[in-house]
Amino acid sequence: MSDPNIAIVGGGPAGFFAAIACAEASPRARITVLEKGPRFLDKVRISGGGRCNVTHACFDPRTLADHYPRGGSALIGPFHQFNPNHTLGWFAKHGVPLKTESDGRLFPVTDTSATIVRCLIETATHAGVNLRLQSAIENITRQSHGAFLLQLSNNRTLECDRLLLATGGCRSGSAGHLATSLGHTLKPPVPSLFAFRLGFSWLQDLAGVSVPRVAVSVPNTDLCECGPILLTHSGISGPAILRLSAWGAPILNELGYRFPLRLNWFPDLTEADIARHLDTHRQQNGARQLATAPLPPLPSRLWRQLLTDTGLPLDLRWAQFTRASRQNLLTQLHHTQWNVEGRSLNQDEFVTCGGVNLNEVNFKTMESRICPRLFFAGELLDIDGLTGGFNFQAAWTTGWIAGRSMAISVSRSPASNHPSHEDLFQGVDPSGTV
Ligand SMILES: Cc1cc2nc3c(=O)[nH]c(=O)nc-3n(C[C@H](O)[C@H](O)[C@H](O)COP(=O)(O)OP(=O)(O)OC[C@H]3O[C@@H](n4cnc5c(N)ncnc54)[C@H](O)[C@@H]3O)c2cc1C
Repeated sequence: MSDPNIAIVGGGPAGFFAAIACAEASPRARITVLEKGPRFLDKVRISGGGRCNVTHACFDPRTLADHYPRGGSALIGPFHQFNPNHTLGWFAKHGVPLKTESDGRLFPVTDTSATIVRCLIETATHAGVNLRLQSAIENITRQSHGAFLLQLSNNRTLECDRLLLATGGCRSGSAGHLATSLGHTLKPPVPSLFAFRLGFSWLQDLAGVSVPRVAVSVPNTDLCECGPILLTHSGISGPAILRLSAWGAPILNELGYRFPLRLNWFPDLTEADIARHLDTHRQQNGARQLATAPLPPLPSRLWRQLLTDTGLPLDLRWAQFTRASRQNLLTQLHHTQWNVEGRSLNQDEFVTCGGVNLNEVNFKTMESRICPRLFFAGELLDIDGLTGGFNFQAAWTTGWIAGRSMAISVSRSPASNHPSHEDLFQGVDPSGTV
């Protein structure tokens, strides 16, 4: 096989979307996707609990951008070009209808990520993209004539004149090194979207308990979120915790993942409101024990633990509940403090905060401002979203723009037979027709 004129390093969703967008826009371009692993699209396979949360039903670019703790403002322009509406259309046109769940998340109607994987691999193959597995790129050098020389792990080399780095989050391995070797700098990579580890032995009894609305915050920081929480065998998770970990990723990293976590179990009530709620509950349940008549809407297992932490006997009758006890319980319900001892390592969805500095990339084209003909897409950039399909959407958007831009860029080469810029970008329907 002759060397490609376009090489894409990374066979994840961003790399595949770029390869397809480029091939569909410029059918004569020779495009190769190089993946170091034994399978393509590994994260897509395991994503969304095996169902792949492809994107989110949020169609206004500015509102959508608010779901990205890092990279939101840089993405507003790109979202005008390719947003969840285009993602929906693109997958429908390529034979994969998506469905919207009540919370706005979009999944394939088949409810399996294998459908997305099959669609991307078949579409890329059909578009003539050359797909190569077990092809780790170890080094890249710029040739004097402007081409890139890629050094593979098996000592082979490959030359290309347009290069896309879509190597994913750069917390480990060579991903960051390839970008820095070409002159780029990285925002320090740290994890985002993780659960918190707690050291309480009683967690074993409370695993699985969830509360629909809790305010969680970290004292002496601006970090505060409100939403559902879930207790697990090792700590605390759920949407409110994941959002806190995303917005606070760099701060929590600086704290070494050891910090006090404040929980307000009644975020919509003042202390006076909770006091009244307690008094009414006391009057209605005077003959019952505190433990067997939990204060709504708290689940009984959690309620019992909060009573124990307040030092109240579980068998105390509500009629014997004193004013002094009421004050202690109020403080507990409004300001529970649990010490976080680390981040959960078995959390099944996390992304990288940090990566290639966004001011070094032109977001109209995804081309490097430092190294011409080098492009970026996906999580390698300093972009990360909340849970809900936002991370894949960033991969589809940046991949699509990078792919189209590489096609345009190739078409401008002097010796090229490729279509013109106007043919490629003007009036294009991003959902799939060229
Ligand atoms: C368990 C889990 C579940 C998730 N679920 C969802 C979800 O439902 N919805 C959502 O929006 N997001 C989800 N995410 C996040 C999402 O998977 C990522 O944001 C997304 O995969 C990033 O795409 P990418 O193409 O940039 O990187 P990746 O998917 O990481 O792909 C990069 C590829 O590059 C390859 N590579 C790296 N270095 C080299 C090299 N030197 N040479 C060759 N190849 C290389 C890697 O092997 C990898 O295959 C989930 C993440 C995890 C971990």
